[in-house]
This record gives sequence, structure tokens and C-alpha cells, in this order.
Amino acid sequence: MNSNHQRLGRRSVLQNGTLIMATAAVAPSTLIAEEIDSTLKIGLLTDLHFADKPPAGTRHYRETLNKLEEAALQFEQDKPAFVVELGDLIDAADSVETELRYLSTIDRPFSAIARDRHYVLGNHCVDTLRKEEFLGSVGQEKSYYSFDRGGVHFVVLDSCFRSDGQPYGRKNSVWTDANVPAAELEWLEADLKSACNRVIVFAHQRLDVTSHHGVKNGAEVRRVLEASNKVLAVFQGHSHQNDVKDIGGIHYCTLVAMVEGSGADNNGYSTLSLKANGTISVQGFRQQATYGWES
Ligand SMILES: [Zn+2]
Repeated sequence: MNSNHQRLGRRSVLQNGTLIMATAAVAPSTLIAEEIDSTLKIGLLTDLHFADKPPAGTRHYRETLNKLEEAALQFEQDKPAFVVELGDLIDAADSVETELRYLSTIDRPFSAIARDRHYVLGNHCVDTLRKEEFLGSVGQEKSYYSFDRGGVHFVVLDSCFRSDGQPYGRKNSVWTDANVPAAELEWLEADLKSACNRVIVFAHQRLDVTSHHGVKNGAEVRRVLEASNKVLAVFQGHSHQNDVKDIGGIHYCTLVAMVEGSGADNNGYSTLSLKANGTISVQGFRQQATYGWES
């Protein structure tokens, strides 16, 4: 474990914040104001798997609507600059028409949360639907792209490609065959070269494991991220459980799935805060773990 990595409870993060303020040689009130002003907040959700169908195993597809409503109330308070949905917004339907209906049903409350929102493609998003159908329905132009907010560069990756480079869609793929193709890797390398010094990456399939949940060429992607020397953290979903790995100076944080389990307590979502001093914190709600990393 990296020495500057700490897994902290909700209270510890607050204590940590107090500690930073207490050691600074500035009047506390001034510092508090500066700290608040320089914090960029982002709402994070993943693996909603919404579908109008009965539960299967631990996945309670219909309950996602209520869980999302709770997350929306939290984000109303936290006022994130933007929200990111890290993939698998919907679950399988037996026809394109039904799948598009699931998508519009869940996207209506999701899009009400924030005008500025980003969709990472998950394998379930583009299992029945083609990428252009999913993106067209939610009003997003590209499946992988980047943008800047508050002095930070954000990258959205798309690993929904088969080994032969074919994009997922119309049941043409196996979920264990996730790849970032050469063209996207080249784009990523060039994008990171021209990016500012602080980069955060959003992905669905995991870049930090070699199991079935990992991107097949994850090591290659990590090499590009590490070589840039600019990437602070990667936020990802797909394996439905809380996890963190530190590899090559980058935090890989896997967020808990919203669809898992029944009832309000089995919800999971978070507010990510990025401070100008490099501190990153994930305030987790319900089943989502809370983390804090100092620069
Ligand atoms: Zn999922």
C-alpha cells in the first residue's frame, strides 16, 4: 500500500480536513473559505442495471428508481459541478424497443439531477442496443472523450470493444472480452500529452485486475496512464463491490453497484471532492465506502 494512501471512515475524513487546517499558518476562517471555494465536487453512480423485471439473485432491478431518487436528494445538497454514471445504467431486455424504454425510464430522473452529466458505456448498456442507440437516447455525442472542469482534466473511456476491435452491440459480444482498441489508446496518449497536470479517468470495466472483470489489455492502458505522469485516480464500476488498488502511483477506485440488494440501505453512490491542494475524497453513502487521499 502506498504511504500516502489512506482508507478512512466518514468521520476520519473530517478529522483529516481539520488536521490540514490546524497545521496551516493562516487564520482558520480564511482557510476554510479558500478550501470551500477551491473544491470541485462530482456526483458518482454506477451499475444501476435498471430494468422493469423481477429481481434475479441479489439484483433488484426495479428498486434502482427509488435508490436513484435518494441519490438525487443528496446531490441536491452537495451541488456537484457534474455527475458521472459509470456504466450499466440498464439491464437486458428481450427487444430493442423494450430496452430503449428501460433507458428512457431511468434516464429521465438521472438527467434531472444535473445538466452537466456523463455516461460511461457499460457492457449491459450496449448488449442489446448499439452504441449509437444508447448515446443518441441519452444525448451524448461520443463513447470516449475528455473535458476540463475547475483546472482538472477528465477522461471518459470506452472498453466495450471485442478483441477483434468490433464495438459491442446487438448481442455480438461476451462480457469477459472487454478491450480498449488501438485507436482509442492512441487518442488517450495524445489527449494526456496535451492535458493539464491533474487528470481523473472514468471507466466501466476495471483497469486494475486481470480477472474476468478486467479490461483484457488493462496493463497496456495503465502504461499509457502512468507514462503521462498526470493521472491521479481512476474511478470504475463493473464488479459491483468496493475496492481500491494503488498501481504505479494511481488510485484505482471501484465503486459499489446501486442494483445490489433490496431496500434503501442497500443503495450506493458517492460525492467525489477534488481540492486545489491535490486532496481527493470520496464521500460514500449507504454501501459505498468512503476514502481520502492526500496529494
Ligand atoms: Zn454491472
